[in-house]
Amino acid sequence: MAKIIVTGGCGYIGSHTLVSLIESGFEVISIDNLSNSYETALEGVFKITGKKVQNYNIDLCNKEATLKVFEEHKDAVGVIHFAAKKYVNESVEKPLLYYKNNIDSLTNVLEACQKFEVNNFVFSSSCSVYGNAKKLPVDENCPLAKPESPYANTKVIGEQIVNDVVGISDIKATLLRYFNPAGAHQSGCIGEKPRVQPQNIVPRITGTALGKYEKFSVAGTDYPTRDGTCIRDYIHVSDIANAHVQALNCLLKQQEQTEVEVFNLGTGNGVSVLEMIKAFEKANELKLNYTLEARRSGDVVAIYADNTKAKNILNWNPKITVEQMMKSAYEWDKKNVL
Ligand code: NAD
Repeated sequence: MAKIIVTGGCGYIGSHTLVSLIESGFEVISIDNLSNSYETALEGVFKITGKKVQNYNIDLCNKEATLKVFEEHKDAVGVIHFAAKKYVNESVEKPLLYYKNNIDSLTNVLEACQKFEVNNFVFSSSCSVYGNAKKLPVDENCPLAKPESPYANTKVIGEQIVNDVVGISDIKATLLRYFNPAGAHQSGCIGEKPRVQPQNIVPRITGTALGKYEKFSVAGTDYPTRDGTCIRDYIHVSDIANAHVQALNCLLKQQEQTEVEVFNLGTGNGVSVLEMIKAFEKANELKLNYTLEARRSGDVVAIYADNTKAKNILNWNPKITVEQMMKSAYEWDKKNVL
């Protein structure tokens, strides 16, 4: 069984990817300092797969500790690097925390890959590298924008670092640019469980329905979109997880890949905020308490992916609908509130 090192394996996308990897026959270990997650995610992974995953609770900014884990697992064939801080607003308030955490951890992991010849590398990037794209849907050739936040900049810089290292080493790499991951595993055993209050739309909607928040505020109803609200490409986390397995399989099959491949991971469909609310209400047969508010500064009006490249080359097809996403997210959130 080929072994994969997953950084950030206790986190939201990492835990779902552990499941997909195990179900595809990989052996996995996780490295996660639990700064934004709980080890209980691995109990959920066990419930789904029957496999106990070992987590190394170390900070990847600690080079010695990182090298030690890689040395112990130098038979690994690949790394999926999820570990990073991910909150845009927090990154604006604490830029150095973000640059230090996201860049130091990446350089340490890449150094460990080089040293122990773990030569297949998948990096979590984000559609935030495109900023306010002029042409929709966005394909991978869209020029990268000036980053709107230190967080987005860590993804732009991170992609560049990966490119530079691939250029001088035997490492082959794939960059996956996620659009808006949402939802939870259909089993109800894993989902998003951060250590801070989530700011993204789906947990805010489910949280409002569960009484955690008084109301859901729709920020801006006069945008030039079909119903005046912002449009995003929401993609189910299990679909995202499956793309990682496909990306890894592609890397493992190719003996020689000199270029770093880049893929957009989105459904290709833009969904507005009001449409998300409707999908939530329909899927869960309830009414959401929401209000229409003024625009927030800094919001991108509309962005959605051209996912043709991932479909063709990774043979990946996102399958889960927005309603299923809303149902799974609510089921998961209910479990965590009760
Ligand atoms: P998450 O916070 O749930 O998972 C990240 C995990 O990394 C956490 O469990 C955290 O404890 C761990 N971690 C962070 N810094 C670490 C360090 N220095 N050492 C060890 N562990 C560390 O986030 P997620 O939503 O699963 O995101 C995974 C990746 O995908 C991140 O790189 C994120 O930037 C990227 N991404 C996420 C989204 C999204 O909306 N969720 C969108 C685009 C890109």
